[in-house]
Amino acid sequence: MTKTALITGITGQDGYYLSHLLLKHGYRVVGLVSPHRQTNLAKLGDLANKVEIYTVDLRDSTAILNAVEQLRPQEIYNLAAPSFVPDSWKDPLGTLDLITGTATRLLDAVRQVGLSTRFYQASSSEMFGDVFCSPQDEETPCRPKNPYAAAKLHAHWTMVHHRQRYGLFACSGILYNHESPLRPQQFVTRKVSLAAASIKLGLADKLEMGSLDAKRDWGFAGDYVKAMWLMLQVDEPEEYVIGTGKLHSVRELVSIAFECVGLNWQNHVVINPNLLRTDEHFQLVANPTKAKKNLGWEGQISFEKLLEQMVQTDIERLQNGKIAEVSSKQLLVE
Ligand code: NAP
Repeated sequence: MTKTALITGITGQDGYYLSHLLLKHGYRVVGLVSPHRQTNLAKLGDLANKVEIYTVDLRDSTAILNAVEQLRPQEIYNLAAPSFVPDSWKDPLGTLDLITGTATRLLDAVRQVGLSTRFYQASSSEMFGDVFCSPQDEETPCRPKNPYAAAKLHAHWTMVHHRQRYGLFACSGILYNHESPLRPQQFVTRKVSLAAASIKLGLADKLEMGSLDAKRDWGFAGDYVKAMWLMLQVDEPEEYVIGTGKLHSVRELVSIAFECVGLNWQNHVVINPNLLRTDEHFQLVANPTKAKKNLGWEGQISFEKLLEQMVQTDIERLQNGKIAEVSSKQLLVE
């Protein structure tokens, strides 16, 4: 029997890679997309004629219930979120409503319809926030530092409650930063890859940065969506910390990206104190032991390889004058 998977956030980075993975495994893939975001369907690129789109307002409980009843999915991946953390300060309530509200509405719909749907919630390492121990694992206490992280934590516990109280197969991945050529330009990895490509092509000369000392646990999005899928294939629904377990500084990021195009970053990077973030976490690093043990999961793409792909893709996009184009060949889809 063909399995049906519903994905919220299908037009995002992870939605793209996850859809490819599920299609490869023979799933029928349906994206739940809000009516007011239909213009972003262009981001589906080569997925456009391979997945189905079901238009439903993610803020509307009845509409979500109808969607779940009609589509009767075997799996749901709840990925939709305004994912750029600083933006959550501009609209804390909207952030909460989309992140926590959508998780609650989907879980309630599965419960009400009485399906045995397996549910994945996109939790985030941001939930750990102001950490006092490193690395973090599934037992580490959370002290969120921004509205995005607080909303993710609320959604995470809503998922746990539905599992404990109603017996739903609900789980979550607490994911650390993961990147790809599809990362939006406001994220630091893509900002750097695009700058290195632009400077190489003579389209720019300088890159303004905040702190070069900030450190992150960065992995490749294609690897991380595989962890999401694996979590729904095992017997027991549980939480999993997903990351590389390795920290890299922004200085290393810049240095490797510029090296990819044969440039010395020190000739081009300018520090702008106005770009310093006040909610930086310096010690957010994963202990993914449980994922390795229970799921056999481990990231496959190195930091260097990831950056090389990102810079190379940005060079090709700039040369073609198609900065936002999606091409599966360039994106390391398995
Ligand atoms: P992304 O590329 O920013 O994609 C976000 C998706 O959510 C897009 O499809 C976007 O639709 C949708 N969305 C945003 N605001 C919405 C709204 N108001 N109403 C309806 N849909 C909305 O994010 P991602 O990197 O794929 O991340 C996927 C999930 O994992 C997110 O929940 C994110 O918070 C979480 N996560 C990501 C990371 C990471 O490092 N990437 C780490 C931990 C957790 P549009 O295309 O219409 O904007």
